[in-house]
Amino acid sequence: MEIKLKNLTKKFPGDPKKNIKDTIAVNDLDIEIKDGELIGLLGPSGCGKSTTLYMIAGLKEPTDGEIWFGDEDVTHLSPEKRGIGLVFQNYALYPHMTIYKNVSFPLTNLLVDGPVIDKLTVRYLDEINILKDPAKIVDVIVNSVDKDKAEEERVIEYHPAIRAIINSFKTTQYIAKDLFKLELHLCENPEEVQNKATQAITVLEGKIEKRKKLFQTFKKDINEKGEITKDGEVVVKKHKLSSDEIDYLVRDASRLVQIDNLLDRKPSELSGGQQQRVAIARALVKKPRVLLLDEPLSNLDARLRIQTREEIKRIQQETKITTIFVTHDQEEALSICDDIVVMNEGVEMQKDHPQEVYRNPHNLFVAKFLGTPPINIFKGVARGNEVYVGDEKILVTSTDLGNRDIYVGIRPEGFLLGNNVEKVLTINIKQIVTMGRDMTLIGSHNDFDGEEIKIIIDSDIPVENGNNKFALRRNKVFLFDSLTNERIYFKD
Ligand code: ATP
Repeated sequence: MEIKLKNLTKKFPGDPKKNIKDTIAVNDLDIEIKDGELIGLLGPSGCGKSTTLYMIAGLKEPTDGEIWFGDEDVTHLSPEKRGIGLVFQNYALYPHMTIYKNVSFPLTNLLVDGPVIDKLTVRYLDEINILKDPAKIVDVIVNSVDKDKAEEERVIEYHPAIRAIINSFKTTQYIAKDLFKLELHLCENPEEVQNKATQAITVLEGKIEKRKKLFQTFKKDINEKGEITKDGEVVVKKHKLSSDEIDYLVRDASRLVQIDNLLDRKPSELSGGQQQRVAIARALVKKPRVLLLDEPLSNLDARLRIQTREEIKRIQQETKITTIFVTHDQEEALSICDDIVVMNEGVEMQKDHPQEVYRNPHNLFVAKFLGTPPINIFKGVARGNEVYVGDEKILVTSTDLGNRDIYVGIRPEGFLLGNNVEKVLTINIKQIVTMGRDMTLIGSHNDFDGEEIKIIIDSDIPVENGNNKFALRRNKVFLFDSLTNERIYFKD
């Protein structure tokens, strides 16, 4: 589902009596998100990321502007009608319910528009389908034994066998129980298995026939898919999902996020990462058009955060569902998003591929926001084709830059020492920290606009404390207008 935000604005009114000013949380945002894209909204606290997400979700009404899902204007649609799945940072699971109930909860009162089915016929049809390969059923049941136990202690147990049938045939608990009750695994030989399965199919076909007859007394019928028909037409109306349909959806979503073995537990019996997966399964179970994630990883410890973000990427790639991921953590956004929107004070600062936002920042804010250690910013002056920091001419360009005050941004990896390079900028190095292959030099400069300069260079290069003159890598040096903070592009 393609999403378009057009001039989206949200103003929270202030209170003149309490001297509280209006807050423009989101200001004239124009963003296009392609179908199937995973996009990150990235920015510092209070920049309007969550407000943007809640407007897309329908939880906050925009002051101005429009939100489109494909060809549909959803700006004033209620959240339920938008077809979204929302995941918050605090998983918001119901503590007294099992994981199964938590995941199925959004489906219990859901009214769906579509063909009305006879759930028993559908169940019988599905069972017949699985029974066509009875040897596989036996195989699945026999292989459900606990392989950690000694061979003589291995016995077939009911619950693991049911779980194995559910997972192997991607079916429901109801069908799994029916199939297990046939006791195909207790047959003496493959012939007996086949005969028993054939008998079971005959019984099920008889039951389907009975259901058809029952419906025919009400002038209706059931077609080969188990859908109810009237006068030859499939009956279509708003209806609740059957327990089998709910079971299918719950198990599908749970398999996707790999919590299918935890469905009988309560949330308190799960780790933070597992709870967040449950929240994602709950958001996905309704097959939403759009998945919205609001800082979904911030309550997880560092290791789980990395693992879960990879999971989110995998789930997104498998479902191809358009996803918006809100975070203030640049590493998180850079590592999994197809595109990133960097926001500041409600305004879009840049929308680009993750690498591009780092390599090619459009303004001072983006340059400063991305990168660890952060970019080093110096106060500088442009004089025609030359750029000065203090008395030192650090750059000569073929572009006329005019005469103006500028900011010069140099990434930590943009400094060079060595013999065959032209050294242009003197930094007073105060501390040298070696960390394996690299070393960090911490230094100062009169025109530095920040606390301390951080330079990363190869640890094999000899450096001493005190003044060191560095060469600069051209593609790691950015110039910004000191009034507008916009990037000044130049040619070598
Ligand atoms: P964080 O990362 O801290 O969650 P954010 O980027 O998601 O921040 P928002 O929660 O969207 O930011 O808030 C944007 C601005 O709108 C902030 O200045 C915030 O104080 C303000 N704001 C948010 N909700 C309200 C509200 N209900 N009433 C008044 N101001 C609000």
